[in-house]
Amino acid sequence: MNRIVVLGGGESGVGAAVLAKVKHFDVFLSDNQKIDDEHKQVLLQYGIPFEEGNHTYEKILNADEVIKSPGIPDTVPLMQAVLEKGIPVISEIEFAGRYDTAKKICITGSNGKTTTTSLIYFLLKNAGLNVGLGGNIGKSYAFQVATEKHDIYVLELSSFQLDGMYDFKADIAVLLNITPDHLDRYGYVMQNYVNAKFRITRNMSKDDCFIFCADDEITMGELNKIVLQAKKLPFTQNGTVEQGAWADDTTMHVNYEGDTYEMATADLSIKGRHNIYNSMAAAITGKVMNIANESIRESLMSFEGVEHRMEKVLSVGGVLYINDSKATNVNSTWYALESIKTPIVLILGGKDKGNDYEPIYSLVKEKVKCIVCLGADNRKIHECFDDKVPVYDTSSATECVRKCASLAVEGDTVLLSPCCASFDLFKNYEDRGRQFKEAVRKL
Ligand code: ADP
Repeated sequence: MNRIVVLGGGESGVGAAVLAKVKHFDVFLSDNQKIDDEHKQVLLQYGIPFEEGNHTYEKILNADEVIKSPGIPDTVPLMQAVLEKGIPVISEIEFAGRYDTAKKICITGSNGKTTTTSLIYFLLKNAGLNVGLGGNIGKSYAFQVATEKHDIYVLELSSFQLDGMYDFKADIAVLLNITPDHLDRYGYVMQNYVNAKFRITRNMSKDDCFIFCADDEITMGELNKIVLQAKKLPFTQNGTVEQGAWADDTTMHVNYEGDTYEMATADLSIKGRHNIYNSMAAAITGKVMNIANESIRESLMSFEGVEHRMEKVLSVGGVLYINDSKATNVNSTWYALESIKTPIVLILGGKDKGNDYEPIYSLVKEKVKCIVCLGADNRKIHECFDDKVPVYDTSSATECVRKCASLAVEGDTVLLSPCCASFDLFKNYEDRGRQFKEAVRKL
């Protein structure tokens, strides 16, 4: 095998191309959009031929193997041509895994991936280990395999990356939860999405560990159907488990091979029921990795969370502003509302991906005093909530924050947790979150 074609010139594609180059393949990278300057510089620096704004089929269909960026669906004409020719298609993670002997800790799930991946990385780094962070987050994993040396990698994996993984093996796999998402890429068949998530367990042997949420019905249903060699380590907030972790009203407990760890949930630095799950997943990983209890405790108490996920921005006049711009579905917003104890001014809206708001109705009635919409078209929010609380319209971050400030009183929380994607008014959820924070700081 000689020629590798990389499709997509973002972080993962460029990293894969660099690794292929370093491993002496004949590499070509193709992106039908513009490649940003930073990534172009890397391609030039490594002498990797590339094209942008177009796909030249002759330069692609002569590949022995294609590495595809996770954002490209199989249904586009180019991918149909690649698949018709029988060219194997893999993900950046599969490719990099071939050249990496480090221990691999992989995290997937519909919600909580970035938070849990960052927390596990923080925990291992704090314990003094030589650990790298990659996957859907930060610097490309393949680029790091090409240019750095780590003993351990913590990798955030989306279902799209998992789709392109075959021989890769995780030493520790974490599956946080499965709720319907991205169904447009899975033929609107939920089982296809579930299968993609479970690819994280491929090739695992009895020495490997599978960490999962025992409260997640879809995960449990699937586990009952399949044969898994790996050690099963569940976490739960309903009852106890023998091996794994559980949390009751006050305390989180971990038990791994006779060794135990306990900690008050009030001491966890990241708050809310969802973050108790994420913290349990991290604590089990810490035990499996043989990290001392004191070190685990110190990390779980001091982890600052990730930008745009329940991020505390500022208190202004006794009103706390929270940026949860990453909450782009109803399930995420449910957990955000659940975790807040004060009256809430809730910012909702953006590009609705077919939301059913029903799951948050009772939390809205209980905790939300009013809703401020931040979106181009807020009709659906009015339809769903007008009979429950006052709903106001705004169409920029500044206007929205000012409106919230006029409605909130001392002791309230203003929460941006919009249930929706952002690209009607903003570049992406990061842009929405940053504009929100800037507007808060200007109050
Ligand atoms: P992902 O990387 O999977 O999108 P993030 O860590 O970025 O997940 O969190 C996205 C949103 O999902 C957060 O704003 C939070 O409200 C919610 N969330 C985080 N962890 C969980 C969890 N374990 N279960 C459900 N929702 C969660």
